Amino acid sequence: MQSICVYLGAKTSNNHHLSDAATLLGHAIANAGYRLVYGGSSQGLMGILAHAVMARGGVVTGVIPQQLIDQEKPLNTLDELLVTHSMQERKLLMEQRADGFIVMPGGLGTLEEAFETWNAIKLGILKKPIGFLNIDGFFDDLFSFIETCVHHGFVSLAQANRPKRHTDPQLLLTELMQHERFIKQDALA
Ligand code: AMP
Repeated sequence: MQSICVYLGAKTSNNHHLSDAATLLGHAIANAGYRLVYGGSSQGLMGILAHAVMARGGVVTGVIPQQLIDQEKPLNTLDELLVTHSMQERKLLMEQRADGFIVMPGGLGTLEEAFETWNAIKLGILKKPIGFLNIDGFFDDLFSFIETCVHHGFVSLAQANRPKRHTDPQLLLTELMQHERFIKQDALA
């Protein structure tokens, strides 16, 4: 079973478009028959996404560090909960378990995870697709800063344009599925 890892906020935004998008993405992942891999929390956008996948009969793996269990309160209805010794191990496991990555709106944790994965793809360590779900222009300033990095010669245009960008959860998922990672595995199935 192929897996999509989603990085997103452990808090709920005051913008309900973001929670609506988390629900739609969860439904799309379950309908496509993919496993969701995420941080395991029952709270915030993370919890909304996991509930949406499970509501459609989808399969969910949570990955959480031991020291965050009290704070992030993992869902006890997950199909699989992996408890790690550190944040670093959590990120590594999520990267290993996933066939592709979607970044939704979130805070510093989400951004750290997104940049680590984007950079690993740039370095060729990960040969998997990544996409940003840009609801209500949430990531516009971030993309504009990446353009500044391109302008100053620190990031190539190819790497800047590497992540797919969409405002629609289903369209973003469909685009990621065009990546050879999914096509090859489908052919083997
Ligand atoms: P945030 O975007 O800040 O709401 O955080 C989203 C998720 O990222 C939460 O589950 C955080 O625990 C997680 N997170 C924050 N920093 C790290 C890190 N260094 N490694 C792995 N996960 C992290």
